[in-house]
Amino acid sequence: MGLATPGAGVVFEPIIGIEIHVQLRTASKMFCGCSNDIGDAAPNANTCPVCLGLPGALPVINREAVRHVLATGVAIEATTPEVTRWDRKNYFYPDLPKGYQISQYELPLASNGRLVVETSRGSFEVGITRAHLEEDTARLQHTRIDGRRVSLLDYDRSGAPLMEIVTDPVIHDAETARRYAEELRLLLLTIGASHAAMESGQMRVEANVSLRPAGSEAFGTRVEVKNMNSFRSVERAIEYEIARQESALRAGEPLIQETRGWDDAAGRTYVMRVKESSEDYRYFPEPDLPPLVLDPASNAALRASLPELPAARRVRSRARISPVASGSSSTSASTGDLSAGVSRKRRKRASRELETSRSGRAARAARASACSASTAGSTLLPSAR
Ligand SMILES: [Zn+2]
Repeated sequence: MGLATPGAGVVFEPIIGIEIHVQLRTASKMFCGCSNDIGDAAPNANTCPVCLGLPGALPVINREAVRHVLATGVAIEATTPEVTRWDRKNYFYPDLPKGYQISQYELPLASNGRLVVETSRGSFEVGITRAHLEEDTARLQHTRIDGRRVSLLDYDRSGAPLMEIVTDPVIHDAETARRYAEELRLLLLTIGASHAAMESGQMRVEANVSLRPAGSEAFGTRVEVKNMNSFRSVERAIEYEIARQESALRAGEPLIQETRGWDDAAGRTYVMRVKESSEDYRYFPEPDLPPLVLDPASNAALRASLPELPAARRVRSRARISPVASGSSSTSASTGDLSAGVSRKRRKRASRELETSRSGRAARAARASACSASTAGSTLLPSAR
């Protein structure tokens, strides 16, 4: 048994799982009133005691971010828990001033979803393990000033709402992995959850790649691949990694559990860090935030408010059914991108978010109400404004 001496006749089966982080489209950050629009902001301009991790600062839940993850859950046909909560993921790094990240561990907002993707070999259903909500870290920039190597920190991104979507390890080739990432991006754009621009880091794709002899149950050594900044690089990096692992296995070389980066210019992956053991983040329930009670009835309202999803739109355009006959509440003749109805809705929502962020009053009111609910638990109605 084992992969050390596989023999020449062994056929290897690649096992790929994809983790995608997307920045959510909200006016303010995940747990404070700072603007989430950091495109043109000066470094460290959009910060406050909460997202700088100053002692005593208390987080307040961003309702719109929760709504985006719930909407994603509905769109991928996932299960939503009746009660969810926040967990602290503990680790130290300069881009994480609190020493922990507020995330969701045991009770993600969405689990057991699926997304059907079209590949050159037909359609393929990708099982989605979970989608959860967390806060982003600050941005570290390693550079040189006056010849000296320095690391600069920009906290504008610190505390931005981030959704992590994790697939089951069910993908077996690079093309399907790329198609999945493309389809998910289209879905997120359609429901307005994220701008999901890969080139600017709003959507970050990581792939877990391992090989095992076809027919084997046990998983091989898993390698995590990062730094893929385009859909093309997702496909190329996974293709490269499958070939690299296969030639190592055939040569009888042991594979190491490690994180590798993708060098697009060189067309290869390189070692970023070796994982000696699985990380222990010592998760525990976040004491500064109440559990979130989700109203099942509002999920139906959320479902009804969603625009026509890309898969349904494709089916309709193939079948050449008229928009009226499809029964969708917001459709247009466009099959390539967002429908006119959705754009109107999104513009409305965006202007509403802008007003909220301008006035600052709403943020303070939300903070006050979340503080008063902090011991009793709060009810969230995704359909509410
Ligand atoms: Zn802040």
